[in-house]
Amino acid sequence: MKSLKEEDPEVYKAVVDELTRQRDGLEMIPSENFASPAVLEAIGSVLTNKYSEGYSGKRYYGGNQFIDVIERLAVERAKKLFNVPHANVQPYSGSPANLTISFTVCKPGDTVMGQNLTDGGHLTHGWKTSLTGMVFNSVPYHVRPDGYIDIEEARRLAMEHKPKLIWIGSSAYSREFPFEEFSKIADECGAYLAADISHITGLILAGAHKSATPYAHIIMTTTHKTLRGPRGAMIMVTERGLKKDPELAEKIDKMIFPGMQGGPHNNTTAGIAVALLEASTPQYREHGHQVVKNSKALADELMKKGIKLVTNGTDNHMILVDLTPFGKGTGVFVQDALDTAGITVNKNTIPNDPASPFYPSGIRLGTPTLTTRGMKEQEMREIADMIFQIIAAVKQYQLPEGKEERAAYIKKFKEEIQDNAQVKSTRSRVLDLCKKFPLYPDM
Ligand SMILES: *Cc1c(COP(=O)(O)O)cnc(C)c1O
Repeated sequence: MKSLKEEDPEVYKAVVDELTRQRDGLEMIPSENFASPAVLEAIGSVLTNKYSEGYSGKRYYGGNQFIDVIERLAVERAKKLFNVPHANVQPYSGSPANLTISFTVCKPGDTVMGQNLTDGGHLTHGWKTSLTGMVFNSVPYHVRPDGYIDIEEARRLAMEHKPKLIWIGSSAYSREFPFEEFSKIADECGAYLAADISHITGLILAGAHKSATPYAHIIMTTTHKTLRGPRGAMIMVTERGLKKDPELAEKIDKMIFPGMQGGPHNNTTAGIAVALLEASTPQYREHGHQVVKNSKALADELMKKGIKLVTNGTDNHMILVDLTPFGKGTGVFVQDALDTAGITVNKNTIPNDPASPFYPSGIRLGTPTLTTRGMKEQEMREIADMIFQIIAAVKQYQLPEGKEERAAYIKKFKEEIQDNAQVKSTRSRVLDLCKKFPLYPDM
């Protein structure tokens, strides 16, 4: 980054600091990953300079012969890997992609159905503060008290409210998604089924999670999570989707451009193409299976230590820890203490959370980035011990009942945690472990 260093030392410093943070910590937010150096080179390339509204072969600007090559590579690779007849690789990110899908198959006021946000669902599946919840009539389904998706409730609500669009796939769910059951529900009520596989794309491509292709009409995935590509998204239409509406592919394309977006981010498209090539290798398959093996090893070890997990385990890359035995709304303390020790997670609601979404009673953990660094089951057991130590170190902290007292209490907690001996010793264990698994060694 020679030029950046010379021209803008402030931005340069923040980028270097962020690289150091990623290297020296355990990044356990399940929606994150480390893209390969090849992907990073593609997204940092001159492709960012070019305008190319339209699709390959049909552009509104000249000079797109090489952009066409790149977009076609990304599209063809996506079609082949996901076994779908149509792929659009232009969505800027997952949220605009989901809005696009919603507007393609629904009119304002129509009913949409998705997993409720505080039950693990994504904002864009109809939550009230998202455009998808403002423009459409949202009827969410939930998880059962045991943490599994309530398929019976979803069926009952679907028959009663006749949604035009049903979402399956979410952001905080540690079990296999019931694509087949939801496909039947969608058929019974006449809805489109959109599988949002953002979190589990990499697992699907590795064969470590059931594919959505035989069941959904439309598939959306972000490209920066388990897929390990740049920040972006893809919308795919399946054979089932084309059977339901032979024009569905054209409708999606038109709703992306000109409906929703202008020029595609060609550097991102190139990064997606590279990530898809990487995802077609035997090493990637092995990686995807290891992500799940690591997640299961981490879950087993946490449970052995008496930590409660939602659904008592995991099928995928993610674990939801239920902290209610330590008090309600304690996710914030565990998240901050782990962060201080160099383990990054996010606080998360658990099913029927006794506290509020802002002060939830759980944390969400994931193994994708740890696996990308090369860690295996043995390291997961060590990390489980670190997490256990941190939970033990903060369990005397309880969220005050009075809303006014909370800010001051948390501020005091944050100060105290800096000097906590247990947190300090965990920080050095984290550093030792990170040194054994260097990240971006050539940068
Ligand atoms: C991450 C995610 C999205 C949104 O992606 P952004 O790129 O953050 O807009 C949509 N759906 C699900 C299930 C996700 O996990």
